Amino acid sequence: MFPDAKPTDFSAARIHETVQQVLAAGVLPAIVQAGHPVLRQLAAPFDGQLSGAELGQLIDLMRSVMHKAPGVGLAAPQLGIPLQLAVLEDQFDVDPEVAAARGREPLPFFAMLNPFYQPTNASTVAFYEGCLSVNGLQAAVNRPESVRLDFTAPDGTRQQREFTGWQARIVQHETDHVHGILYLDRAELRSISSNAEYSARWAQPDISLARKELGFLPGP
Ligand code: ZN
Repeated sequence: MFPDAKPTDFSAARIHETVQQVLAAGVLPAIVQAGHPVLRQLAAPFDGQLSGAELGQLIDLMRSVMHKAPGVGLAAPQLGIPLQLAVLEDQFDVDPEVAAARGREPLPFFAMLNPFYQPTNASTVAFYEGCLSVNGLQAAVNRPESVRLDFTAPDGTRQQREFTGWQARIVQHETDHVHGILYLDRAELRSISSNAEYSARWAQPDISLARKELGFLPGP
């Protein structure tokens, strides 16, 4: 489908220095955009490059950036930090019909280190999604409906959790970020819409009209 991302060339010391700069800036950092090389690197697994206190501060900062954006997930590479860390949280009020069609349920905040996922069955589901590092666009992505996520929690414990519906979509999108993958890599290219066209035409609970009119994922 697409080649594996190359491991980041940032040393542990350079990752530490980059995080210290971000934490010391005193303002919320900008979210880097597609074309920034860190978004295309396999981020470094967390193995103690930061102290526990620094990791906690970075997670708090990432949560603030995510809330301000606003978004439902943010990965460290989106701040130019090639570290396998992401934060996720979905507490938005969503139209009940949209929430039901998309399997969208609130996702309480959590942070994950060194994540990977596996589909738990063969079911896939396609919906529009966007990315804070790809300003201005939305595209439909066909993804496994349910996944098992393995990750390390900030307290160092290894955890395994299963997710389905919209939560599974967020988990996959953010895990992909730390592996150098953007959602456009997996998107139906004919579905790509500007935010304005998406809002005006394709924001229905499901994507059947967009599929028919734009000509992607042909089916019954
Ligand atoms: Zn993203």
